[in-house]
Amino acid sequence: MVVIVGAGASFVGISAVHPPTAATASTGSVAPAADPPAFNMRKYTLDAPSSRWVVVDKLRPLNPRKYEPSDLVRVSIPRTFSATIRREANTALTLMNKEFVQSHPKYGLVVHSGYRSYATQKAVWDGDYTLTALPGYSEHQTGWAVDLAGKNGKCAIYECFANTTEGKWLAANSYKYGFILRYPKGMQNVTGYQFEPWHYRYVGTLLSIEMHNRNIKTLEQFFGLPNAPKYGVGGH
Ligand SMILES: [Zn+2]
Repeated sequence: MVVIVGAGASFVGISAVHPPTAATASTGSVAPAADPPAFNMRKYTLDAPSSRWVVVDKLRPLNPRKYEPSDLVRVSIPRTFSATIRREANTALTLMNKEFVQSHPKYGLVVHSGYRSYATQKAVWDGDYTLTALPGYSEHQTGWAVDLAGKNGKCAIYECFANTTEGKWLAANSYKYGFILRYPKGMQNVTGYQFEPWHYRYVGTLLSIEMHNRNIKTLEQFFGLPNAPKYGVGGH
């Protein structure tokens, strides 16, 4: 009993006093713990459509409007139609699908849509401003966005995809591979789009991990950009 009390008192004394004394002795001054380096919000431009951080929304059309990425590749994972995305996004998507399948052997991701050109977007635009972007305003035109489904086709391009094994895994894990869920639930006033649990945007892990750690859901909020619920003046 006496020994235990004595040991406890001694331990408290050491932990409270010893570290500052040691720091003073070894460095001559007590340096405060270094802050981690601040996140560089300007590491990549938000404006050029070739940038992995480009923000495209109803107030921010691609500039130039008919931009075409230079390094499109055919997606390496299964796809419903011939789909291309930018090389770096394809590398990340391939790794993401590989690790998903490793942990879920009966499942797999399928790309429903990748890059869409200005001309293609013009053809698919059906007048539904909440679901389909005007040509020149679609994130798909950057080559950084993919619409994903499961290979079983369950809830493909429907909101119930959020409740599937694939949809839940993507929502929880895509940030590790540099992807974000671009149109989260309840954010239509910010992003301009209703919940699209299938639409993933590649931004690179530097940003996707930072957004995850700070629990910020949209690019607009992260970068302090205006909400973009509707096309602005100069749009259509
Ligand atoms: Zn999409």
